[in-house]
Amino acid sequence: MPITPIEPKSCPFEKIHPSELNRDADYFMSHAYNEAIEAWKKDEVPIGAVIERKGRIIAAAHNQSRTTNDPTAHAEILAISQATHAIGDWRLNECNLYVTKEPCPMCSGALVIARIGKVFYGLRDEKMGCLGSAINLGALPQSNHQFESQGGILETLTHEILRAFFEKKRSENAARKNNPNDSDNFEPA
Ligand SMILES: [Zn+2]
Repeated sequence: MPITPIEPKSCPFEKIHPSELNRDADYFMSHAYNEAIEAWKKDEVPIGAVIERKGRIIAAAHNQSRTTNDPTAHAEILAISQATHAIGDWRLNECNLYVTKEPCPMCSGALVIARIGKVFYGLRDEKMGCLGSAINLGALPQSNHQFESQGGILETLTHEILRAFFEKKRSENAARKNNPNDSDNFEPA
């Protein structure tokens, strides 16, 4: 499928500019959150991720599944590829990933395979989150790579942007149902 050009959408959320002096989990999650805003501007589900190594961000990506017609184009997968290219090694033991929502089964699995150091995430996902909520793929007893994860980083912000995005989608879809001629971007809720 060809890549569909999408008009930039305005996002009601503003980027955060954290102090460079305090590079804690909130600092890195702020950058992941800024990536989520970039996803919104492409009309993508607003999820962002960054990968940190020795205090420096070596990868930053956001969900691009719709833009690229690729269900694997999640923020975490794109960030993993960027990071492995940046360091020239597919093993990310010395790297930590920060993502605005708890990783899905695919991304949690990829993080095991990539031998990630530690994962920090924002919003927990009881339904599909596979780093502690639905299941914990980072702690499979027989796996040859296990890692720690910590949820709830900037949870209010990372929750609010997703909640607002899906609310907007629902109202757009409701409006289209009243206007059958305007169904170009119809997406089932
Ligand atoms: Zn995913």
